[in-house]
Amino acid sequence: MEGQKEVLERLRRSFEGGRTRGAKYRRGQLEAVVKLIHDNEAAILEALHRDLRKPHFETVMSEIDITLNEANFALNHLESWMQPEYVSKNLATKFDDCFIRKEPLGVVLIIGAWNYPLQVILVPLVAAIAAGNCAILKPSEVSGATEKLLAELVPKYLDQDCYAVLCGGAEETKDLLKNRFDHIFYTGSQAVARHILLAAAPHLTPVTLELGGKSPCVLWGGLDIPSAARRLAWAKFFNAGQSCVAPDYVLCHPKIVEPLLAALKVTLEEFYGAQPRESPHYGRMVADRHWDRVKGLLERSQGRVAIGGDSDKEDRYIAPTVLVDVDESDSLMEEEIFGPVLPILTIPSLDSAVDFINRKDKPLALYVFSESSEVVTTVLERASSGGFCSNDGMVQMTLPGLPFGGVGASGMGRYHGRWGFDTFSHSRAVMLRGWGLERVNVLRYPPYTPPRLSWLRWATTISRKDGWGCSVM
Ligand code: NAD
Repeated sequence: MEGQKEVLERLRRSFEGGRTRGAKYRRGQLEAVVKLIHDNEAAILEALHRDLRKPHFETVMSEIDITLNEANFALNHLESWMQPEYVSKNLATKFDDCFIRKEPLGVVLIIGAWNYPLQVILVPLVAAIAAGNCAILKPSEVSGATEKLLAELVPKYLDQDCYAVLCGGAEETKDLLKNRFDHIFYTGSQAVARHILLAAAPHLTPVTLELGGKSPCVLWGGLDIPSAARRLAWAKFFNAGQSCVAPDYVLCHPKIVEPLLAALKVTLEEFYGAQPRESPHYGRMVADRHWDRVKGLLERSQGRVAIGGDSDKEDRYIAPTVLVDVDESDSLMEEEIFGPVLPILTIPSLDSAVDFINRKDKPLALYVFSESSEVVTTVLERASSGGFCSNDGMVQMTLPGLPFGGVGASGMGRYHGRWGFDTFSHSRAVMLRGWGLERVNVLRYPPYTPPRLSWLRWATTISRKDGWGCSVM
């Protein structure tokens, strides 16, 4: 069997041979991704169910359709994305062709996490193909059924000399990272991201980090509480809370707590019935280790469990759980919860909500629920985050027109749609000059004289639209 090195060398030879560069080839491979999904929908649903007990509905929305939409969006725009971008010129370059050429980077490595194990591999792959790269895919070993399915299907549908799946856990990934790639696209935790950056450093490989963090949800001012509860509960308990953009905790005025709890109770019963454990619409923790971690946070919490709280390790089940009387130093506020546990914290003013968020790492998502556009705008303007959505959760990441990525500790770089194409492309500055206008060029050659400098500055200086600035002549 081929080792990591041999696979990488094979892909590199294909890339250097120019195979992935043409639009027709890229289209063919993007169509192959679409076909892979269409032909194997049942197997995908089954794999996600085995890994996360993910309800079919959630798999269709968050793994299948999001990937198909990205692939179809790329197919719709491919040729226009590939076009050179012409830039404005000055007098000295008036007769030159000055443009940005989008070039593929080479052989890229895409490392995925387990919570949306198909999406976080195939959506970056769509971008890498659209941009004309070869790619090695390293799905998460934690979601083993999806990992196995990807390893089986990718070589069946895509060009094996340009795209390969390599399986394994931390040790195999560390070995893989000793090789030189032209880009590393990593989705996962902040802790592992540090290893990725260290591994990228010797080769000076550019890295995209799609990470997580604690995404706050601020509820403030006038509010339709039942609607807010439904939107909040959906975003929080989708995939049993294991979403990078799930609302991690709620910040609200003390007066909202009781009505919100009452509405959340009604909502959760509507969503999952009286026994969420029996519901086919509710997922599970991905593995024992992950169950232990969330259970540990819950056990150490000083908060009061107001809804849920029961769990069963055998079944990797944790009920949709809401806690109140939680303060900033609570165990649930130490790290990203990444499970179906929602702490509600109270704050006396909108200013203190903004201060609270700004004391922490910049989150991947920030949510504000309010009927007041002033409240929404205040939080939008005063606190930073990877993405922002008012009066809902998670839906901001479904549009290929919006960039998806973190800021600060929640990640670096972005993808989806054109943003993904740009991430996997080098924007090469190109100036094609002819041999004319040598009389103008003479201005910059020695012997340097004051008149030549004045003429040169006149031909190259950018004048301001408002007319401000000194005349160089
Ligand atoms: P994980 O354990 O599956 O790890 C991610 C990948 O890193 C896997 O492929 C794994 O094999 C590899 N890996 C693990 N240890 C490694 C090491 N020491 N060196 C090199 N590679 C290693 O997933 P996770 O890290 O538990 O993922 C959960 C995190 O991912 C959460 O923080 C979540 O918010 C984040 N996430 C972010 C996004 C996003 O798009 N921003 C999407 C999904 C998940």
